[in-house]
Amino acid sequence: MLNIDILGGVGEYGRNCFYIENRGQAILLDCGIMKNAEKTPPNLAPAHIKKLQAVFISHSHIDHVGALPLLKKMGYSGQVLMSHRTAQQLQQPIPNLHTFHPDSIGKWIKVNDCIAFQWGYSGHLIGSVWYKIQFFDEVLFFSGDYVADSYLLKATLPEEDGTVYDVAFIDSGHIEKCIDNLEVLQQLAAFIKAQPNHAFIFPSSFSGKTVDMISYLSEHTSRAIHVDTKLQNLLEQYDEDPDNLWPSKKVLPLRHQHLADSDHMLYFFMEQNDARLEELVKKYPTAIVIQTGYAHSSLKRKDLNRPVTEFFYKTHPDYRDLMKLSQCIHARKTIYFHSTHTNLATTLKREEINYG
Ligand SMILES: [Zn+2]
Ligand SMILES: [Zn+2]
Repeated sequence: MLNIDILGGVGEYGRNCFYIENRGQAILLDCGIMKNAEKTPPNLAPAHIKKLQAVFISHSHIDHVGALPLLKKMGYSGQVLMSHRTAQQLQQPIPNLHTFHPDSIGKWIKVNDCIAFQWGYSGHLIGSVWYKIQFFDEVLFFSGDYVADSYLLKATLPEEDGTVYDVAFIDSGHIEKCIDNLEVLQQLAAFIKAQPNHAFIFPSSFSGKTVDMISYLSEHTSRAIHVDTKLQNLLEQYDEDPDNLWPSKKVLPLRHQHLADSDHMLYFFMEQNDARLEELVKKYPTAIVIQTGYAHSSLKRKDLNRPVTEFFYKTHPDYRDLMKLSQCIHARKTIYFHSTHTNLATTLKREEINYG
């Protein structure tokens, strides 16, 4: 019998952390903090640490890994599992780290005599994964942050072998939307082409979305694109993990990256970099600022002195994706996380889900 304790991430956007206990042993799915000034940690207590055997990490964003140091401080010394790419992105020493590589996809990996798992790509960030976990006689699914239709990143699901999951944790981050990501890219490229005399400013996140946009715009517009160092580093990871991409997709080397700043370039930089935003906005008074997700605080500033144009690109499942995921993952109990629109009392109406 599974005993589930939601330590954060359900009914809120951030600090994803789910504790599951079974016959005296326990596992943790992600261990994140809120992206607020207080960096609110999940509700971890000493009693959780005692039984903990393994921590499964879906990807390197802080709302999924930010509380790993807290876990260590509380005395956890058991296994921490993640993809080799996620570990590389974290760039911090993690005691008892166990990584897995692309060649183990779809295979059962043993954690101990009672816990084994399979993993697959979740399309959200290079190296991001979902887990199917066998925990004694029970089977769990954890989607991590999931994007079904990334332009570049592959998203898979567990093999359909008739498994009925005892519990599924499914990302519902964009449940209030219905978006076709390719359509968004096409509209964005058309918008840019229609305004040849403007520079475009993209405050960006370290995510698959950003590389999808850079890549699509470099293939479908003739604009020079400038990408800051941290994002360039992300782009380079795509060459190293071709298995993580849809077949025949790859990131082409950027043209004109060496060119000096100009008033008709596309600028991609980390959204936290307020100084860069300020510099570009000042330098190019007619430049158009593009917002591609929920507005980061830098975009809410009044001194931008210009409207911000929104092209919302999914980094989580929207309503249709969620219905499809819920159909594919046949679970006795589904817990939707990563949204203020869903909570423990929320469940999709049974008749809406056709398990086929
Ligand atoms: Zn994420
Ligand atoms: Zn997240």
